[in-house]
Amino acid sequence: MEKLTYRSDAFRREHCVKNGIDPAEHCCLDMAWFISKPIEWDSQGANPVVMWISSWDEYRIEISHAGNAATRIYFCPWCGARLPQSKHSDWHERLNALGFNDPGEQDIPMEFTTDKWWRHGA
Ligand SMILES: [Zn+2]
Repeated sequence: MEKLTYRSDAFRREHCVKNGIDPAEHCCLDMAWFISKPIEWDSQGANPVVMWISSWDEYRIEISHAGNAATRIYFCPWCGARLPQSKHSDWHERLNALGFNDPGEQDIPMEFTTDKWWRHGA
């Protein structure tokens, strides 16, 4: 039987902030906690529960043992909120306009590697 550990909301909030996740910018504390790369279970290892791609504002569930792949989710598994519209297309359009025709493989401006470009209007 796996040992489950209980974490208080205060502990989880502090963990989020330490890992660069502001819980107020996500639908609920559960989501913020799980995208902030917590080790919730001893057997979890380095596997994330849910990933957040900040530069595209996309939430994804990793597909285990299948290389670097993840499937996008549209609703929060914990609170049921509809997740934001992906900014993936806008990200490509903005970078194409800046002359990057293959941004996944090119050395793009730093603000486009995080949520900075869409949150603060880079
Ligand atoms: Zn939620």
